[in-house]
Amino acid sequence: MLRVAVLGGGITGMFVSYYLREDGHDVTLVEERADGLVTSSNNGGFITPSFSPAPPIGLAKIASTVFGASGPLYISPFEVMRNAGWFVRAAREGVTAHEKDVLDLGAKSLQLYLEFFRKDDLQPERQKGIIGLYKSAQDARVVAEKLHERFVGGSDIAEMGYVGLQGGVVAENEISIDPVKFCDSLRDRLRTMGVKVRLGEKATLSNAGGRAQATISGGERLEAESIVVTSGAMSREVLSPLGYNPRVLPARGLVLLYDSGGEKIVPGPTLLEDYGIALVQHASGIVRLTSFFEMTGYKIEFAQRRKEWLEETACSHLPGLAKLKLVHQGTGFRPCTPDQLPVVGRVPRYSNLFVATGNCRLGITLAPVTAYMIRAMVSGADPPGVPWRLFDPARFA
Ligand SMILES: Cc1cc2nc3c(=O)[nH]c(=O)nc-3n(C[C@H](O)[C@H](O)[C@H](O)COP(=O)(O)OP(=O)(O)OC[C@H]3O[C@@H](n4cnc5c(N)ncnc54)[C@H](O)[C@@H]3O)c2cc1C
Repeated sequence: MLRVAVLGGGITGMFVSYYLREDGHDVTLVEERADGLVTSSNNGGFITPSFSPAPPIGLAKIASTVFGASGPLYISPFEVMRNAGWFVRAAREGVTAHEKDVLDLGAKSLQLYLEFFRKDDLQPERQKGIIGLYKSAQDARVVAEKLHERFVGGSDIAEMGYVGLQGGVVAENEISIDPVKFCDSLRDRLRTMGVKVRLGEKATLSNAGGRAQATISGGERLEAESIVVTSGAMSREVLSPLGYNPRVLPARGLVLLYDSGGEKIVPGPTLLEDYGIALVQHASGIVRLTSFFEMTGYKIEFAQRRKEWLEETACSHLPGLAKLKLVHQGTGFRPCTPDQLPVVGRVPRYSNLFVATGNCRLGITLAPVTAYMIRAMVSGADPPGVPWRLFDPARFA
């Protein structure tokens, strides 16, 4: 049995704690916020490997979006100047090189989710089946063929209540959850398993004679043989005292929640694929609308015109949304690497330090498989059945 400190209580840190505790380790999970999570609560809650390949962030895309935010993607010129190396690498490598690996990783993670739900009947308002909708039937056909999923035509989509969309792809076996309920119930589950969950404590790292040492607010040193950094978009800041940079930058997104008054408005978990918008209605009646991929640092506030773009676009395809009452607005920060691959493994030069971050747009989908890799690595083993070398932190050393 090892003592393990997990720094960051988002979904990645919670799954890492879950698996390590299952293996009998003595786990302490430290989370800076006492008042709820930012990113692991403020997201779409879609566990959807099929729709995971991201649009490549090529130079042309960057050039066309830097100076005007009219769609879901925006990159501030200031952010490009401050992190020129990151953007040059993103433009050079894009994401398409590893599309197949990401799809396979997502499929493995979905399998781990299903195993998890069979064992632990948490109630995160799971819904089965995700539909991606397209303005062009041809686009939908191409995606359906590529993913080996079912194509749906314009008349079926119109019957569901959507307008102006001609094609859809249904991923029957993929799921959506209410991320707030899921994180709350997983945290409770960790406590009952014996994980020491310490909320409202900020962890800092230092070098203690060649080994990483974690200290929490107030100066208490955490006694641990291994430390796992799962601090999401903040992982760069957390690791910087040890001279390692996981090359993670925050890409923010917006979440709007509406009260439907109990009326069914959204037929099922839906992706409006032409706009990068996700839409779902939870069993509680709450409608969740999410979008935007903006690289602007850690600013929380979205401009009013961005919110209007999101609402108007969603309403133009599902008019029933227009009458709903907004009850919550939140911002999340995706932890993104320039090659769009996670950073999972041992941190160079420190035998007792691991990092698990960089899941960017797919952090909910990939949390179990990320934790699966860390679970093996903490015990000194290679994780079977996943291309873990691709995610080696040493690639950024
Ligand atoms: C709008 C939006 C929609 C999204 N939709 C989806 C989706 O549908 N499906 C999907 O798969 N993914 C989605 N994502 C991505 C997903 O939400 C993230 O990738 C995921 O939540 C990242 O989880 P994490 O645990 O790695 O990081 P986080 O959730 O950011 O957790 C890291 C935690 O570390 C804590 N921390 C930081 N520094 C310290 C410190 N020094 N000491 C202690 N604690 C610290 C932070 O407070 C934070 O709670 C979406 C993201 C956004 C923004």
